[in-house]
This record gives sequence, C-alpha cells and structure tokens, in this order.
Amino acid sequence: MSSLVLKDLKKSFGAVTVIPGVDLEIQDGEFVVFVGPSGCGKSTLLRMIAGLEEASGGDIRIAGRSVVRTAAADRGVAMVFQSYALYPHMSVRKNLSFGLENIGMPKAEIASRVGRAAELLQIDQLLERQPRQLSGGQRQRVAIGRAICRDPEIFLFDEPLSNLDAELRVLMRVEITKLHERLGNTMIYVTHDQIEAMTMADKIVVLRKGVIEQAGPPLDLYNRPRNTFVAGFIGSPR
Ligand code: ADP
Ligand code: MG
Repeated sequence: MSSLVLKDLKKSFGAVTVIPGVDLEIQDGEFVVFVGPSGCGKSTLLRMIAGLEEASGGDIRIAGRSVVRTAAADRGVAMVFQSYALYPHMSVRKNLSFGLENIGMPKAEIASRVGRAAELLQIDQLLERQPRQLSGGQRQRVAIGRAICRDPEIFLFDEPLSNLDAELRVLMRVEITKLHERLGNTMIYVTHDQIEAMTMADKIVVLRKGVIEQAGPPLDLYNRPRNTFVAGFIGSPR
C-alpha cells in the first residue's frame, strides 16, 4: 500500500488557484524530492499534507486513510522548516520535549524519545543550551530532532538547508540521507539544489505552477526530461 496518496489535491487562496489538482503516489519508505521555481506551490503542498493549510478540494491518504479532515497533530506527519522555528527562550531539551509534554506523554517515554533523537543527531552535548548559543547547523539538527521525537510516519522537509553555508549543506545532506536509511520513514524534501535532488531522491517531482511536469527516479529525469522546463531543473547542468 502506498504510504501517501494525493488525489486531485487542490488549493486556492481566494480567487487565485495555486494548485489546480495534484495526483501523486508515494511508496512506504520513499525519499521524494520536490523541485520547482519559487512560488510554484511546493510549501503549500507540504503544508496541506501536514495539515497546516486546509485543502480546497481532493484527498490526502496516509497508509490508506483519508486525513484531509484530520487535525495536524493526529496525521502522523512532522515538518522541518527552513527557519528552524525553535522556541528561542527554551533549552534544546525543552524544545525537543515541549510538544510531547503538551499532549500528556509520560515522562519516561519523553526522556527516551529525546535521548534517542539527540543521539541520532549527535546533539547530546547541547541539550542544556539555548538556541541562540547554537550554530545554524546545530539549530537545524535540533529542528530535525524535534520532528523525530514525534515519531511520525512521514517527515516533510521544507528547504531545510537553505540557510546553511555550502560546506555545511553537504554535511547535513549526507546526514539526512543516513537518517533516512536508519529510520526508513517516508520523507518528502523540498529543495532548490539540483545536487541535493539528484543525490538524495528515490523519486524527484518537478513542479511548475502547481502542476507536476514530471515525476520519476533522478536518472530517468536526467536522461529523459519530458520538456525543456524539466531539463532546466534536472536534465542539464546549469
Ligand atoms: P513555493 O514554496 O514553491 O515557493 P508557495 O507554496 O509558498 O511556493 O506559494 C505558492 C503560491 O501561493 C505563491 O504564489 C504564493 O504567493 C501563494 N500563497 C502561499 N500562501 C499564501 C497565502 N496564505 N495567501 C495567499 N497566497 C498564498
Ligand atoms: Mg516554499
């Protein structure tokens, strides 16, 4: 069974249609990369999947279950943002545990989840620090750690590395790939970076104006782009 299915998923803001209707099937454990120009609807799609934005029509199914009317917290989806979105006045430990405390999870379970996430992301030594005492790369690790603590079925990453310098991006890219190998979850990853798309993806989805131009394994798109638009993103080195 596909872990995530989008069926004619639509989004309009007032009279402006941003996503006219997207159909997509993502298999359990797949690492899928969304690419496309700024404003084409990548974040809107992720936000609808996460339940942070209401769909204007169509369906979203996770493990066969329709979730379009399910609250964000109950979808089994966790999102990592470009801007980290950490609580500035809380320690790293608190940033990781806060959401779990809010839903009344037992303390021992929280401690075990925080410990595991900290170990996976090598932030065990940073747990008592405040976000302002962290580098950009460390902040992004904490943001990913927070998603892991929620133990979601699906991870969504919205340009998580855009704020990092080139060297750190390469490092984090490799780490996220390793994380995917260790956890085995379905992950959707939005990026502007062709190298990230080519190296990380099981499947690349190229979007233009809220429409999927082409979707497939990186080498298929690279070798057989359907049109010059896809070639511009994936097919030809820029
Ligand atoms: P991307 O992430 O691909 O850059 P977005 O999903 O952020 O694109 O935006 C897609 C389009 O939807 C853009 O034209 C953007 O201006 C519009 N948009 C996004 N959010 C809103 C909103 N809350 N209200 C109105 N328009 C929006
Ligand atoms: Mg965006």
